[in-house]
Parts: sequence; structure tokens; C-alpha cells
Amino acid sequence: MLNDLSSSIIQGTGLVKKYKKLVAVDHIDFTIERQECFAFLGPNGAGKTTTIRMICCYAPLTSGKLTVDGKDVSGNCREIKRILGIVPQETNLDPDLTVGQNLLVYSRYFDIPGNIAVERATEALETFQLVGRWNNRIDSLSGGMKRRLIFARALINQPRILILDEPTTGLDPQAKHLVWQKIRYLKDRGTTIVLSTQNMEEAAHLCDRLVVMHQGKILTQGTPTELIDRYAGKEVLEIYSKPENKPAVLSQLLDTELEVEDVGDTIFVFSRDGGTLRQRLNINSEKIVYRQATLEDVFLRLTGRGLQE
Ligand code: ATP
Repeated sequence: MLNDLSSSIIQGTGLVKKYKKLVAVDHIDFTIERQECFAFLGPNGAGKTTTIRMICCYAPLTSGKLTVDGKDVSGNCREIKRILGIVPQETNLDPDLTVGQNLLVYSRYFDIPGNIAVERATEALETFQLVGRWNNRIDSLSGGMKRRLIFARALINQPRILILDEPTTGLDPQAKHLVWQKIRYLKDRGTTIVLSTQNMEEAAHLCDRLVVMHQGKILTQGTPTELIDRYAGKEVLEIYSKPENKPAVLSQLLDTELEVEDVGDTIFVFSRDGGTLRQRLNINSEKIVYRQATLEDVFLRLTGRGLQE
């Protein structure tokens, strides 16, 4: 049995979630450490939200075991929800209430005394740059403001674990960076961050560790740097080529030990050692992009380049 001294805070073992015949989450195992930022990364339909919903006690497990802060999600939902701050994928603010009322009503689920709730709500609105919006109606807010208000609401109970399902989808770059900054700040203060995302930049910026999910399964896990090293190497050359020129380019690449992927109008070349790819290859092509390998290369190599659903 895990307890507060254990380094892991969330543990899933043989976790399965079925919707009738569809296996949305297919026997996954993962461990999330205290005070780390951990991400579930994967394409549409990979099973990220379903996993997060099980952690939040919104969706019961079909089978397997899942503990949050040492407590089994089956039978301990009330205690578990008290330590979670949840930013769901959808906007679920109450449109009949004002901004301030949304926060105060939410605080009642945690039995937070009125004066403390007002203090925390005011502070949360400041944190997410919503000062002066207390009396606004929800439908007068922009999409980005609603999203930031959901973040503010998630902090009302000073959660030990912050669960973020696609946190920055739909935010403009300023708001996205503000949210990232706050996430880092909360993590530095000891909050465990669990996020689901398809945004590689977000995963690379925020995460200590991540798992890549695809079709309900975990394909791999590690730190962003480990995964980039393991699956994409150091540098990538993207060669855009007309169909008639492609065979010549490919045959030149075949004579090297480099990993090559031929996708539509682009040939991707991956190099493990770094720094030499451009010099070593003398390729004639319409357009060549030379860049460092990223988490996006890992994602696409593992989950495929076709449209996922
Ligand atoms: P996205 O990035 O698109 O949100 P995801 O990785 O979060 O995708 P899930 O939402 O967990 O994926 O969905 C996994 C699979 O489970 C999908 O095939 C989805 O259609 C199915 N699914 C999810 N929720 C339900 C439900 N309530 N009833 C039936 N099927 C569901």
C-alpha cells in the first residue's frame, strides 16, 4: 500500500477501459512521481482523456488497478477529488453565474470558508490576468478568458495534483506562455502536474517525463531528451522533392547508414551523431530543411504520419 512517503503519487497497473466493444485504454502501466510534470502524449483517440478521466474518478475502470495518493480510485473518489485541481478539455463553466460566482460555488465543493474562498478567487483571477472580471457573465468572456478562468477555478482548493487535459488548446501565444509559466511556478512549489497533450512543444517545455499513447496502449516512456535520442537522434534533414527526382535522392541515401523515411513529397533523414549531416550529404533538391530532432519526430515516427482517429 502506498502512503504519503512514497515517491509515486499516481500508479496505474494493467489499466483497461472499454466502451462496449471499443477498448479505449488497453492494459497500460504507468507511475507518476510526486512533484513531477508527467504527460500523456498521443494523437486523437489514443486514450489520453479516458486515462485522465479514470484518474479523476469520472470514469470507472473496466479492469486493472489505479491509485492516487495511495488510495484506490474504486471507493475513494471523495478523498481523491479533494486533492485534485482539474482543467478538463471542454469548457464547463456555469453560464448562469458570473465569473466570481463560478469560483465561489466551486469552492463550496471543498468546504472552503467564504472569506478564504473570496481571497483565493481574487488571487486566482490575478494569476490568470482576469482582474476586473469578477462580475462579468461567462458568455461575455472570450474563449481564451474562459479557459484561463477554468485554470483559476482549478486552483481554488490549492490542489496537490493538477490535472490538465489539453490545457492550452485554443489559447493565443501570450495566454499559452502565461499558462506554461504558471504551471512551472506551481510545480516549483511542489504541485504534481499531469497533463494530456498533442502539442509537442508543450510537452517538451513542461514535462519531466512522458508516455506516448497510441490506440489505447503506451508505446514508450521517458524524458523528452531520452525519447528524442532514442527515436529520432540528433538532427533531421527534410528533403522536399519532385516525384521524378526522388529515386535519385533515395538511392544516394541508401548508400549511407542513415535512417530514412519516405513520406509523400518529403524524405526525412535522421542522424544520431549530429553536426555532420549537412556536410556529409550533397543532395540536389528543390528545398532542404536542416534542423534539430524534436519530440514531434518521436511522435510521428511512433504513431505514424497518417491521419489518426
Ligand atoms: P483526443 O486527443 O482526440 O481528445 P484522446 O487520446 O483523449 O483523444 P479519448 O478521448 O480517450 O482519446 O478516446 C479514446 C477512444 O475512446 C476513442 O476511440 C473515443 O472515440 C472513445 N471514447 C471516448 N469516450 C467515449 C465514450 N464516453 N463512449 C464511447 N466511446 C468513447
